[in-house]
Amino acid sequence: MGYDQYKKEVLETSLWLSDHGYFGSLRGTGGNVSLRIEGKELMAVTPSSVKYHEIAPDDICIVDLSGAVVEGSRAPSVEVGMHAAVYRERPDVNAVVHTHQTYGSVFALLNEPIPSLLDEVSFTLGESIEVVPYALSGSAELAANVAGKLGNNANAYIIQNHGILAFGKNMDKALLAAELLEKVAHIYYLALSTGKPVTLLPDQIREMAKSLREYEVGEARKRAAKQ
Ligand SMILES: [Zn+2]
Repeated sequence: MGYDQYKKEVLETSLWLSDHGYFGSLRGTGGNVSLRIEGKELMAVTPSSVKYHEIAPDDICIVDLSGAVVEGSRAPSVEVGMHAAVYRERPDVNAVVHTHQTYGSVFALLNEPIPSLLDEVSFTLGESIEVVPYALSGSAELAANVAGKLGNNANAYIIQNHGILAFGKNMDKALLAAELLEKVAHIYYLALSTGKPVTLLPDQIREMAKSLREYEVGEARKRAAKQ
């Protein structure tokens, strides 16, 4: 089987994110999306510096986890190292979305994590949405900073002074993670702006969220070890 379905899915996701303002500008080329190729050390990833509405499925690159192009004539996203770091460290993740979405980016500027506020969000994204320390876009340092945070098993992170990362076991789940992050960041920002204290979820629920993520990642590790 070729990679057509993977390329199509990456392009469709990119267009959805672009059209819904997740890349921060409609005319820009910010953000990037990737999908792990099942059973291989490969991913389909958006190309670098091309407007999403001006590309076709064949402009999506197939690269290995070192970033080397296996199929496609375009240069892959400069953030390919960051995506590869996630696929290397987290066998539970098969799709990665990196955006410059507005409310997620508010917390990227504040350099503040988003704590456990809603059970719907915490069970899906993790007990807290941590901030990955800043490093230049596309640098090996940024990929290393991302890798250094993945051990909390979350499905979403804020990247300091940059944007966000959202993951899922498939593309639909990664998109949902990006949406849930934007929703919680938006309402958290509004709640904080009242100046009144913000209540967190009870400890017991936070522990449940943490255990759920640990369990899912642990199960994926067992499956990966058997292959
Ligand atoms: Zn970016």
